[in-house]
Amino acid sequence: MGKKSFERPERLQFTDTGYATETLGVRAGQYRSEEGEHSDAIYATSSFVYTSAQEAAATFGGDIEGNVYSRFTNPTVQAFERRIAAMEGGERAIATSSGMAAILSLCLSLMKQGDHVVCSRSVFGSTVSLFEKYISRTGIETSFVDPKDLDAWRSAVRPNTRMFFMETPSNPLAEVTNIRAVSAIAQAAKAKLVVDNCFLTPALQKPLSLGADIVMHSATKYLDGQGRVVGGVVVGSDTDMEEVFGFVRTAGTCLSPFNAWLFQKGLETLSLRMRAHSDAALQLAQWLEQQPQVERVYYSGLSSHPQHELAASQQSGFGGVLSFEVKSSDADLKAAAWRCIDATQMISITGNLGDVKTTLTHPATTTHGRMSAEARAAAGIRDNLIRVSVGLENLEDIKADLQLGLNAL
Ligand SMILES: *Cc1c(COP(=O)(O)O)cnc(C)c1O
Repeated sequence: MGKKSFERPERLQFTDTGYATETLGVRAGQYRSEEGEHSDAIYATSSFVYTSAQEAAATFGGDIEGNVYSRFTNPTVQAFERRIAAMEGGERAIATSSGMAAILSLCLSLMKQGDHVVCSRSVFGSTVSLFEKYISRTGIETSFVDPKDLDAWRSAVRPNTRMFFMETPSNPLAEVTNIRAVSAIAQAAKAKLVVDNCFLTPALQKPLSLGADIVMHSATKYLDGQGRVVGGVVVGSDTDMEEVFGFVRTAGTCLSPFNAWLFQKGLETLSLRMRAHSDAALQLAQWLEQQPQVERVYYSGLSSHPQHELAASQQSGFGGVLSFEVKSSDADLKAAAWRCIDATQMISITGNLGDVKTTLTHPATTTHGRMSAEARAAAGIRDNLIRVSVGLENLEDIKADLQLGLNAL
């Protein structure tokens, strides 16, 4: 027998155009081998082999398409990347080992020493640390602004500003940032707007269609949706993603094939889950507003939320995360929140969110515990605040469990 052809066999490929997000979540980007598997294979391999030295040289040289090494490309990882890119409406996606690795890879591939970032002050805690403590060492400075204040975004711009970074709705207070308006300011400043779309996912919000240049995710949360693995992804133009790809393949902030496979399976049920999480969260938020032991509920789906209309204008749902402040006659607000949390029986006490299991978090002493008391106060995170990531258990069971907590106040 002669040597195999250099040509890769035709794959059954789904073309992504003209389909709705639910369909893309199930079908887009699948890689099917000659075996014809219906589900996606996991390519658990570090490297790839060739039928000749010539083919190896041509593949390494980029003259023909093909995989070389899984730090560079891997079919399972690429299948996940194609699927999330299609769902976000972006040209290309690059998967990373975590959400934080996604932000690091973006910053180090798209900026250089002397550049400047304008960042919402209501972003994930590790994002603030990454900019302040580590990205700063490369000579890239970050200014933090109140994301609701458009003048603050505008006046933070410097001649060397290259990136705007935001997250909406924010964690844990559900502050909503106007993506269209901030994107116009970024564009005027010739800076790229990056939106962390972790809380809503493309099932409920598509920042690229609202003017953002790049979307990133902690895939750890809703993209997986079942609390199994850590990972991240960035989505944007071919030009920007080629830069990010260059960094990821060199620095090794890449995603493993096994984790990519789990995320790909997660995307298949994403739209369905996000709708169910959102429906339950809205009903739970409305119920909590009625409870005498609750002082205030933060959820962008409530008509009482000060930015409800803005949220409705850029989101097709409000997501599964809400938070509430408990009332207490006790001067010790933390003790009251802890009593409420500890009296529940079913709900998980954990820092994670975006899981099928409902979770409860006391932000002041966990996710936001490393901030100074003054910084927490400035951010509006009080000691009586409790965050709920509403899962997919029966809503009446979730309410009954929270009722145990409220009864303990
Ligand atoms: C969890 C999270 C991150 C960080 O992602 P990891 O996967 O934990 O690295 C970034 N942004 C938001 C909004 C998050 O919730």
